[in-house]
Amino acid sequence: MNTYVYTLYGNIYINLTNYCSNACEFCVRNHGSTMDGREFGSHKGEGDCDLWLDREPSYKDVTDILDKMDFSRYKEMVFCGYGEPSARFDLVEMLCAYAHDRGIKTRINTNGQGSAILGVDIAPRMSRCMDTINVSLNATDADSYDKLCHSVFGKKAFDIMLDFAKECLRCGGNVVLSIVDCVPPEQLQKAAEIAREIGAKLRVRKMI
Ligand code: SF4
Repeated sequence: MNTYVYTLYGNIYINLTNYCSNACEFCVRNHGSTMDGREFGSHKGEGDCDLWLDREPSYKDVTDILDKMDFSRYKEMVFCGYGEPSARFDLVEMLCAYAHDRGIKTRINTNGQGSAILGVDIAPRMSRCMDTINVSLNATDADSYDKLCHSVFGKKAFDIMLDFAKECLRCGGNVVLSIVDCVPPEQLQKAAEIAREIGAKLRVRKMI
């Protein structure tokens, strides 16, 4: 049974793909297939269900579920799940329009590599359709990011991620960089500097 939509913390979570351009050391994907509500050291890890998909959903697959929900009970539609949601950006954008029509805000938890994955700059559209763009910083330089995240883009991945965040900011997006609190204090300080330099907010999350 595929879980395309689930609810948690008063939000609606949307799970669209297994694909991810990273293979992070800490990813929940490496530690079994069931999320149990813990906050992982990634941009994923919110839920209480098996999020591995046998088949990626269509717009209709998702909206058939959403159509039956009472949106007055929820604050945000969050694009999250096991894979990188921006890999299916066309569908994400359509679902954002659906969420706004139903009166709730939108957020994406992304590794920031969507433009590189799709080969087209999605930052302007992302900034228009998302109320919050949460980009996982994970590390504070290209080498440590590569060692931790093993992106298909290799050592370019850190700059790809940060350039995406900057471009979203330039386009007026509300960008939050996130990092987990288990990194050394000097890295937390560096993360705060990076966020300040580019004009993003910083969210330090608990690693469990
Ligand atoms: S970017 Fe997120 S989904 Fe992809 S491997 Fe890293 S933690 Fe997992």
